Amino acid sequence: MKKPVLTIVVPCYNEEDVFQETARQLTAVLQNLQTEHLIAPESKLLFVDDGSRDRTWSLIVEESKKNPFVTGVKLSRNFGHQRALLAGLEAAKEYSDCVISIDADLQDDVRVIREFVVKYWEGFDIVYGVRRSRETDTFFKRATAQGFYRLMKKIGIHLVYNHADFRLMSKRALEELSRYGEANVFLRGIVPLLGFRSTEVFYDRKERFAGESKYPLKKMLAFAFDGMTSFSVAPIRFITLIGFLSFLLSSVAGIYALIVKLLGHAQSGWTSLMISIWLIGGLLLMSMGLIGEYIGKIYQEVKRRPRFTIEENLYNNTQQKERVN
Ligand code: UDP
Ligand code: MG
Repeated sequence: MKKPVLTIVVPCYNEEDVFQETARQLTAVLQNLQTEHLIAPESKLLFVDDGSRDRTWSLIVEESKKNPFVTGVKLSRNFGHQRALLAGLEAAKEYSDCVISIDADLQDDVRVIREFVVKYWEGFDIVYGVRRSRETDTFFKRATAQGFYRLMKKIGIHLVYNHADFRLMSKRALEELSRYGEANVFLRGIVPLLGFRSTEVFYDRKERFAGESKYPLKKMLAFAFDGMTSFSVAPIRFITLIGFLSFLLSSVAGIYALIVKLLGHAQSGWTSLMISIWLIGGLLLMSMGLIGEYIGKIYQEVKRRPRFTIEENLYNNTQQKERVN
């Protein structure tokens, strides 16, 4: 087999505190892989600046001038982690045989990148990085993550357990991924749908090297909800079921109330009336909200808007130069 061109895609949003260290460590990884003849010399680190408001982009540009491995793409605004990642994968696909995605904060162990590449040589198209333990996460994050995986599994969405977006994908897997045109990209849900030969590599997840998590609770919840409703109609079925059950219950209660009335023992009935009104009202509102969520999704998808916009692209420039040389 020919040595593959590897591109490591790193989405960055306000990562000025970690950028230099990340670039240093990943450069070392690429150098080592090259001396081991596991990757081609054209391999690159592609940093995607997701509309950062700090110095991230200027750091990327500076680094690219002195470090031949480093290149970058700047999005025109903040598009969110998933789309930034997608932008990087799409850009990298053209010039690479395989692509690895990793977060900028060094929480994922860069040493396992070598294992990813070895698996690629063994013929795997997709290699998932899986966290062995979640010791560095807070109890809260662990509990919510576990609940999330359980729920997703229950409603029929197959995710790789404890895998975030740290993975390797081959060119043909990426080409397949491009055909999934949804506006709500949830890569962890889509990638397993691609098929191909895949495997897992285990690692220990560390603390963020510096800077703050860009996933506060609010974003985490939105992410989970998006993941759920983008992949499954099970929640709609669930509320239909609840609606049906409450309808059954209230008909039984209604018949009971009628009999009591006919027997002449009519209750004042205010309490039960109030309770049922609130119950049904609540159920209705909840159902409408959820259905609205799906309609909103349909609305977003039918618009077919671009999923990201690239403002500057160092990557294309460097690649074209290398081709000419
Ligand atoms: N990120 C991004 N756009 C965003 C939010 C985050 O590109 O709008 C990047 C961020 O720079 C990091 C990765 O996505 O490289 C994961 O974010 P973070 O580490 O904050 O998430 P956590 O690990 O806390 O879930
Ligand atoms: Mg992180």
